[in-house]
Amino acid sequence: MEFERAASVQPSPMIDPFGRAISYLRVSVTDRCDFRCVYCMAENMTFLPKADLLTLEELDRLCSAFIVKGVRKLRLTGGEPLVRRGIMTLFQSLARHLAEGTLDELTLTTNGSQLPKYAAELAAHGVKRINVSLDTLDADKFRAITRWGELAKVLAGIDAAQDAGLRIKINVVALKGVNEDEFPSLIEWAHGRGMDLTVIEVMPLGDVGEQRLDQYLPLSMVRARLAERFTLDEIDDRTGGPARYVRVGETGGRLGFITPLTHNFCESCNRVRLTCTGTLYMCLGQEDAADLRTPLRASEGNDLVYAAIDEAITRKPKGHDFVIDRRHKRPALARHMSVTGG
Ligand code: SAM
Repeated sequence: MEFERAASVQPSPMIDPFGRAISYLRVSVTDRCDFRCVYCMAENMTFLPKADLLTLEELDRLCSAFIVKGVRKLRLTGGEPLVRRGIMTLFQSLARHLAEGTLDELTLTTNGSQLPKYAAELAAHGVKRINVSLDTLDADKFRAITRWGELAKVLAGIDAAQDAGLRIKINVVALKGVNEDEFPSLIEWAHGRGMDLTVIEVMPLGDVGEQRLDQYLPLSMVRARLAERFTLDEIDDRTGGPARYVRVGETGGRLGFITPLTHNFCESCNRVRLTCTGTLYMCLGQEDAADLRTPLRASEGNDLVYAAIDEAITRKPKGHDFVIDRRHKRPALARHMSVTGG
């Protein structure tokens, strides 16, 4: 054992071929979800067999390997991360890296439905701020968008999270003809509760049984309309993500725009994405991937994993090129957002 350790290579930081340092890992801990949002999943999704999933211990080991290799921010996502059984034990064990100072932030993206149950525990495990996805404040529309969700539960989850001291950013997907009239009220509501809000352009991921062109609403239009009503002041804040922020004069709150289709944000990309089966995607918008499950399971030490990560990082592409294809109306990628994690 001692010999093995002595023989192992010192893991080096992850720098991609374009000189970008990788410091952010997003992990989809399950592909399952208790909602079926119309732009994200088909109603009858086939999920992965449970046997294909990494165990929580394996996820911990992989995340920890990435932290050794320079990851400073870790986001658990999905599917819905909070429906994975035993997920609090993963948060609990990953919290050791926060305590040791090797990780700056442990966070998650959630639909909020399980927050009444878990908010306090998340805070106890060192989570300080979370993203909650919420596209409307109208209960009927909410049901129509999520197919299975209940608005009241999510609002109760947001209350629970704020009571537990978690800071919240609300993520809203802009959907043509569905929630486009609601942005002013969503902004006033979120900012009134001290929450940032980010609007996201719908991305062409996975066949969801709906026409993308019908859903797509360019944020340039959303922003222009909002500017007629609010004072939007450009601010320089970068949260390590692709959002561009403005300060809304009337509310004092921050409003972000994520525009993968109208504005490419790849040049500053510092992230990679791991799925619950141990597949590493170097870009949300490309098919290329690396299998980390095989090297993970091949030995108890992490040298094979480090080598596989290094090889994968050499393949990180410069950027993605999503197109909503007007002629074919096909998704740009067959993979659903719930696989790679949003
Ligand atoms: N279940 C969690 C949630 O609801 O936040 C985490 C996973 S979900 C896939 C992450 C985010 O991706 C959500 O904000 C969701 O609205 C967004 N999303 C899903 N499919 C999308 C798409 N095709 N285009 C843009 N955003 C999408």
